[in-house]
Amino acid sequence: MVDFAISAEHREILSALEKFLAREVLPLGREHRELLENPRRTYLEDGRFTPEVLELRKRVRMKSAQSGFYSLFLPKNMGGGGFGPVLNFYAYEAIWKAGPGMLGADIISDFPTGPMPIFTFLPKETREKVLPGLMSGEETVCFAFSEADAGSDAWNMRTTAEKRNGKWVINGEKMWISNAAHGRYAVVFAVTDPEQQKKRKGGISAFLVDTADPGFKVDAIIPIMGFHGGGEAIVSLDGVEVGPERLFGKVNEGLPIGLMGINVRRLNFGGWCVGLAKWALDQAIEYSKQRTTFGKPLSQRQTIQLMLADCATQIAMVKYLSLATAWRVEKGEVALKETSMVKLCATEMLTHVADRAIQVHGGMGLTNELKLEAIYRVARILQIPIGTSEIQKLTIAGRLLAGDKEI
Ligand SMILES: Cc1cc2nc3c(=O)[nH]c(=O)nc-3n(C[C@H](O)[C@H](O)[C@H](O)COP(=O)(O)OP(=O)(O)OC[C@H]3O[C@@H](n4cnc5c(N)ncnc54)[C@H](O)[C@@H]3O)c2cc1C
Repeated sequence: MVDFAISAEHREILSALEKFLAREVLPLGREHRELLENPRRTYLEDGRFTPEVLELRKRVRMKSAQSGFYSLFLPKNMGGGGFGPVLNFYAYEAIWKAGPGMLGADIISDFPTGPMPIFTFLPKETREKVLPGLMSGEETVCFAFSEADAGSDAWNMRTTAEKRNGKWVINGEKMWISNAAHGRYAVVFAVTDPEQQKKRKGGISAFLVDTADPGFKVDAIIPIMGFHGGGEAIVSLDGVEVGPERLFGKVNEGLPIGLMGINVRRLNFGGWCVGLAKWALDQAIEYSKQRTTFGKPLSQRQTIQLMLADCATQIAMVKYLSLATAWRVEKGEVALKETSMVKLCATEMLTHVADRAIQVHGGMGLTNELKLEAIYRVARILQIPIGTSEIQKLTIAGRLLAGDKEI
């Protein structure tokens, strides 16, 4: 039986998080609004973030780490708080219902830029070396999984790692890698046994690469949907050498480790999308009360009321699906089908809510000033990474057909 009650401890953490947001993060966002929203100040010519933006984001990460929020959801053996996905849902919801903005992404360490639970698969000596800089928020990481011909079809990756003189030598090209141009480390997935890979049974390993290692190069930033630059990059690895202490888990068993990280992130989309959708709906409700057309406020028109009701219903559906799934995962279930449902419907719900909120605002909804268009772009983008909507549906259908029919 799903239990939706929030414990006293969770309530206390959420209240402290909300205070932290109000005291430390939102004022910074207001103070640096021009830096964060004027593309000429946000990005360099080549599309990377400017040093001022990177410094501001680091400030948020480090403050959050000092206050104990950054690592709340990392395992205790990494020095994290060890909290699970239920609190995670509420934390993300709290952060994002305060509104869109880049700084929200730096409060909680998450895939793909912060240290992630899969770091427990690194040998102890490596963890001891790299975790202090990552857990303090000083440094960040990127997750180099996808390639030009290996997005949905991860088994098709071409990057290789060959063992030579006791070291792994990595060669290949990765694409779409968030934070590659700014992270200190990259979690790189490469083929270590082509025969196993061909059978789609294994043969892929994961390595921790220092982005300063010779042979690691960011070739280009890919500007995405209305953004002039940002984090997503094309990366080449040309004979990058790493020692065996940089291997995650065992040789040829990297893909399940990667998918584990991806699955955690998919579930996190629930709170993120619900928070942003609530903010957008709030804007629409308030505007509908203020805006008068043909002698009456919009809020008195049934057409507008239907839009608001429809948005609220969809947000509630995603909220309770996310919480029920989080609860099951917290109890030790894998809940693969449900996690895919969360990623699928959270991103599609947010796209719909952002679209309706813009519609309620008329022309005002399209202006950059109100930030609804920014949510719309983010929502649309979110339907692609860490498994497109179609790939989530394939996972759900696969589980159903394998007998997992519980709904
Ligand atoms: C903003 C952003 C950030 C990203 N960050 C990272 C990152 O940090 N690290 C990383 O490794 N990758 C990252 N990615 C890559 C992302 O995971 C891939 O883009 C995604 O998995 C889709 O792969 P693709 O782009 O190659 O599309 P494709 O796999 O070519 O798919 C194209 C279309 O075909 C559909 N499709 C594919 N296969 C099937 C099928 N079998 N049946 C039905 N439909 C199918 C897809 O749903 C999609 O609609 C990021 C991408 C974006 C856009």
